[in-house]
Order: sequence, then C-alpha cells, then structure tokens
Amino acid sequence: MQEKDLNKERLELALEAAGLDLWENNLRTGEVVRAAFKTFVELGYTQDEVPHLVQNSLDIVHPDDREMIHTALADVVSGRTREYRCEFRLPTKAGEWVWYANYGRVMDTGASQPGERFIGVTFNIDGRKRKEREMARINAQLEEQNQLLHEFNGALRQLASTDPLTGIANRRTLMELGEKECRRAQRFAHPLSILMIDIDSFKRINDRWGHQMGDRVICATADICRLHSRNGVDVVARLGGEEFVILLPETGEASAVVIAEKLRNLVMAERVTADEGELVRFTVSIGVAAREESMSIESLLHRSDQALYQAKSHGRNRVQRFEASRSEGHHDLSPPG
Ligand code: GH3
Ligand code: MG
Ligand code: MG
Repeated sequence: MQEKDLNKERLELALEAAGLDLWENNLRTGEVVRAAFKTFVELGYTQDEVPHLVQNSLDIVHPDDREMIHTALADVVSGRTREYRCEFRLPTKAGEWVWYANYGRVMDTGASQPGERFIGVTFNIDGRKRKEREMARINAQLEEQNQLLHEFNGALRQLASTDPLTGIANRRTLMELGEKECRRAQRFAHPLSILMIDIDSFKRINDRWGHQMGDRVICATADICRLHSRNGVDVVARLGGEEFVILLPETGEASAVVIAEKLRNLVMAERVTADEGELVRFTVSIGVAAREESMSIESLLHRSDQALYQAKSHGRNRVQRFEASRSEGHHDLSPPG
C-alpha cells in the first residue's frame, strides 16, 4: 500500500475508533461530498435509505432542534463564522430520539476555493445527554428538598422563639434579646426598663368561665401589650401562664411607669366575651424596674418580679416600681380602689 493510502486508512481507523462519522459539504455548489453514513446505519436505516435521509436530514431532526441548526448553518453559509457546533436529536428507524453532536468548520485548503470546504464529524452523545438529564432531575429534586428544609427551619425557628398561644416572644427570646439590650444599654449608657405584667386573680377566670376563656383573656392581654409597644424596639414576651414582660430600651423609670399605667388602664377598659355572651373584665398588676449600672437581664427581671409581688400584696390592679430598700416603704402609684 502506498504511503498516501496508508494514511487514509489510518485516518478512517482512527475515526472509527473514536466513534466519529466524517462528513463534508461544498458550500459553493451545495454538494454533499461525503455523508455521515455510519450515523444513519447506527440509527437502524438501510444503506439504500441513507442518501435520501442525508438530503433531507434537516427535516428528520427533532422539531425543537431545527431552529438552532438553521441559525448555525446560516451563520456558516453567510461567512459570519467558520465554526459550526450543534447538538440535536435524530430518530431511529423505530422512532426513538437519539442525541448527536455535529461539529464542523469551514477549511481552506490549496485544492479548494476559499470558504467552500465545510467539513466536520457527527458523533453519538446520547449517554452524556442522558446523564445530564438525570443530573438536572436530581438537582431539581435537591433544590426542592433544600427549599422544604429552608421552610422547615424557618418554621422551627419561629416555633422555638415564639409563644404558640399568643404569637409573641417566649421566655427564651426574651432572655436572648434582654442580654443584648443590657449590653447595649451598658455600652451607650442608655436607660433600660422592664415591666412585669400579671393578670389579677386569673385562676378565678379559669374556674368561672373555663380554660378556653382563660386563654382568650391571655391573648387579649398579649394583644394590648403588643399593640401599644414600639414595633421593632420593645420586646413583648409571655413568660408563661398569665405573666408577661415588656422590655423598654432607652426608657427610664419615670417613662416606664407612665407606660405601665397606660397599659393597666387599657386592660381595665378591655372586655372579653365569654361563651354565654357575658362581657368579662379583668385587671393586671405591673412591676416596674429600671436597669442600673452593670445589671444583668436576670437581676432586672428579678427586680420587676419583686415589684410585681409588692403590687399584688398591696391590693392588685396596681403599678409598682422596684424599691431597693423595702423598709422605706413602697411606691404605690395607682389610686386606691
Ligand atoms: P394573682 O392575682 O395573685 O396573680 O392570682 P392568679 O390566680 O392570677 O395567679 P395564680 O398563679 O394562682 O394562677 C395562675 C393560673 O393560670 C394557674 C394556671 O392554672 C393558669 N394557667 C397557666 N397557664 C395557662 C394557660 O395557658 N391558659 C389558661 N387558661 N390558664 C393557665
Ligand atoms: Mg395572676
Ligand atoms: Mg402569675
């Protein structure tokens, strides 16, 4: 065999080994110089059918892929680009779609006129496409699971930080934010006050109208506290039972007492409807404490609790501020009765 024929044979063997099907078109005359013959045989067509299929190959590719091929070919024919890269589906004789890649280029050689030799290869990429599709499916699934996890986490966080009955902050959140507010108050030398609010004789409400009615009274109190606090500034929390706390940043004791009095009056004016239609009134007692130098949230809470205890022992429906020295007497700020 001559060297030239040997090289030709080597090229054919290499193409075969790489699974590449060589084709060549003459862009000037439109002649198919060499057809991607093997591709059509691989798809199950007979040798006789191939020439017709080659001539009409654009008509048999998957309808969704035609536009892209048209555009790519038009770019090559018009000389806008010399590179041609398309991936599309061809039908097997049995009618199943198989993915192929078609990579080509306009090549100028000595034996041809510039811009007329359009040469390239076709090869099967169905396995890769299948994997890509599977990956996309798995990714979409993962994305969906991530989204669910995200929502679940959000719900968990919400559940962990709020009181389920009233929707306001729970004790845990109060302690967290309280610590933060204490640090801030210390750092900027800002005042910080706290109100501890407890519904008076609540047990009797439960006993007289039932637990559900008790819950309604708790919710009504929580609403009053929430609606009359500064949104995003004050921390309104339910400590448990019928006990609430409002943390008032940048608020001194005198202002805190005024706020407490306002809340006490709002609660007094509130009516909650019992199942029997009766309008039930109730009152609260409020202990007030203001933070002093380097005092922690725990001590602040303790002081407001002591003040609340004083308010209770002096007749309920009262606002009482914390007094360091009890022996000096308490400061009862509410009018008697
Ligand atoms: P005081 O005026 O001294 O505060 O008396 P009180 O009856 O309000 O206080 P006490 O602590 O004796 O009773 C509180 C009651 O609240 C006891 C408990 O059964 C009830 N309770 C606690 N949590 C809930 C709740 O979530 N819903 C209802 N309806 N009742 C609750
Ligand atoms: Mg009570
Ligand atoms: Mg209580």
